[in-house]
Amino acid sequence: MAIENAAGFTIEDLIVKWEGFFDEYGYRAKITNTADVYPEEKSLFVDFEEMDRYNTELAEYLLDHPNTVIYAAKKAMKNVFPTGEDIVLHFRIKNLPKDTAVEIRKLRSKHLGKFLAIEGLVRKATEVRPKLTDALFRCMRCNAVIKEKQEGTRFKEPLECYKDHGGCGRAIGSTKFELLSERSLFVDVQKIEIQESPEGLRGGAQPQRLTAWVEDDISGIMSPGDRVVLNGTLRNVQKRESGGFRAKSTLFDIFLDTNSIELKEYAFEDVKITPEEEKEIREAALSKDLFVNLIGSISPAIYGMNVEKEALALQLFGGVPKHMPDGTRIRGDIHLLLVGDPGTAKSQLLSYISQLAPRGIYASGKASSAAGLTAAAVKDEFGEGRWTLEAGALVLADMGVACIDELDKMSPQDRSSMHEAMEQQRISIAKAGIQATLQSRCSVLGAANPRFGRFDEHRYISEQIDLPPALLSRFDLIFPIIDKPSDKDADMADHILRGHLVGEMREVSEEGIDMKLEKEEKDLIASYEPAFTPQFFRKYIAYAKRINPVMEKEAMEAIKDYYLSIRKMGEAEGSSIPITPRQLEAFVRLSEASARARLSKEITLDDAGRAIRIVREYLKRVAGEAGGFDIDILMTGTSKSQREQMIILRDIIQELTDRDGSADIKDIIDESSKKEISEGNVQTWVNRWSRDGEIYESSRGRYRFA
Ligand code: ADP
Ligand code: MG
Repeated sequence: MAIENAAGFTIEDLIVKWEGFFDEYGYRAKITNTADVYPEEKSLFVDFEEMDRYNTELAEYLLDHPNTVIYAAKKAMKNVFPTGEDIVLHFRIKNLPKDTAVEIRKLRSKHLGKFLAIEGLVRKATEVRPKLTDALFRCMRCNAVIKEKQEGTRFKEPLECYKDHGGCGRAIGSTKFELLSERSLFVDVQKIEIQESPEGLRGGAQPQRLTAWVEDDISGIMSPGDRVVLNGTLRNVQKRESGGFRAKSTLFDIFLDTNSIELKEYAFEDVKITPEEEKEIREAALSKDLFVNLIGSISPAIYGMNVEKEALALQLFGGVPKHMPDGTRIRGDIHLLLVGDPGTAKSQLLSYISQLAPRGIYASGKASSAAGLTAAAVKDEFGEGRWTLEAGALVLADMGVACIDELDKMSPQDRSSMHEAMEQQRISIAKAGIQATLQSRCSVLGAANPRFGRFDEHRYISEQIDLPPALLSRFDLIFPIIDKPSDKDADMADHILRGHLVGEMREVSEEGIDMKLEKEEKDLIASYEPAFTPQFFRKYIAYAKRINPVMEKEAMEAIKDYYLSIRKMGEAEGSSIPITPRQLEAFVRLSEASARARLSKEITLDDAGRAIRIVREYLKRVAGEAGGFDIDILMTGTSKSQREQMIILRDIIQELTDRDGSADIKDIIDESSKKEISEGNVQTWVNRWSRDGEIYESSRGRYRFA
């Protein structure tokens, strides 16, 4: 009854109610069973929804007065199953209704002392260590052993040798106490930091964090990167002022006293899709413009870059992760790298994708958190002397997309740990007492600037990508984005300027100014809107990701033929291996993603064709050298054929110089053409060596080594 609720419950009321609940919902047996197997199991877990069904007032009262209600529940448990002092069962409540969840950024003082459900990503977790709960002390004067309960983190000594514990009654001034740590009672505790999950964060806001304490049987369960719901009571502790004296401050820090943990299953299952939405998704998939629409749903404000956008769309769908019969796992995630001149919208694309992708995280390679991009074990203030395991971007983006800007600026430590994180998709940490393996099953979208800040036309693109070959080889696709004046400039300028105009018009109409938009203007605004709204796109992706397509024979043949043809092309030129098996895997992943995008269970020739077209574009731009592909340039800096050319050309110049004092460019070109080196290549090399100061122009058109 509502009146009863308004008046509040007495402890006795609550105990009676709990006993009734235990009876009605079969918890009696559970309590008995748990006590029987104690200490293997130490907790009784109660479903909030059942409680709510049993008595809504009680359930609501719990949310407002968790301490009292849980205290009463423990009493009721003792009544149901009387146990001695040495068995203390925990009472834990799970499955709180969605509407009681509070976002971390919305926590306020009114929430203090309330029972809350808080969802987030585990960012930090300390080692599990004992905490003193029931301290036993020996009185140095009379030898009596007395008990002092410990609360919080401040160590509490007895004020006197309590007479009612059989002591002598002397106060602390006239006796001393010795802590009997062997006989005292400890409980395992762990300190956790969670941060808001990326879904809740739109518009690139910094995620907020909350500290939580977990005790006893629920400690040590969570790892950094886990997605959890923590149910518990919000409490506060008084801060100490900074500075040497560390006086108490009037400011308080909040933390969650965790009652129970729910680990959330990952994947896209938690995106709810209604039957109507499913119908909409299926219809969208049938459209002949599907891929146009997908591309048009990625950062429409950015002009062009359609191949990149198509690749990004495929990355969002991803390939199929596979577990081989020999126990190995092959990743399905597609890793993409954009290397480009400054101001080519790389950062903008990354930030768009991080907001669009389910579980997208945006981070910068030069961000300086201890965890960096992967993870780290650190001993800092948070751990209060203990080791803390801290998750970086790739762990926090587990099952999502990690968008890493300024990848070329990452720390040396990250450079080495990225390899494992990207290929095995886990990160192993072994440091001090911490041995852990964290999952990083995410796709990586990286952006980097070229080695000298900007691409130099006179050098091969592949040697201007400033990342170690081992790391580069983990990217399925690498797109150089070169900013050079072109005939598309006018179009791009129009697009950007009109984009600003659209933005201005939208601002004005949001201010409530009644703007009569002409049809033309409305069309203009519409043309900057994504084909699929981000909400719909996310659902589409979630739906498509549930499909695990299988490759048809023709598709497999097509990929094999293409792969072999470019390997042959390399052979014919006498160059080193032109394309590696890693690219073969890239074809497969991209084809799988393409089939998923079409919601197809079969990977058809069309899907393989799409993958081939995108890989061909990438190879042409990165490794393409006079029509041939030489991935070796990318991975080592110079290809075999380049090295050979270089040696031959140097010999020619040297010979001509020996004969004539310096080498005439016409003679160099003539001699080179006999050795099948084109005039264009000669010019490139000569320009490059001149820039590098290796050769110089001694008189017009004549060169010699410096
Ligand atoms: P980067 O990270 O590559 O240095 P940014 O993402 O910071 O570049 O982009 C710089 C600015 O240039 C942004 O405001 C972006 O909108 C604009 N810009 C660059 N290229 C394009 C493009 N192709 N279409 C629209 N805007 C662009
Ligand atoms: Mg940038």
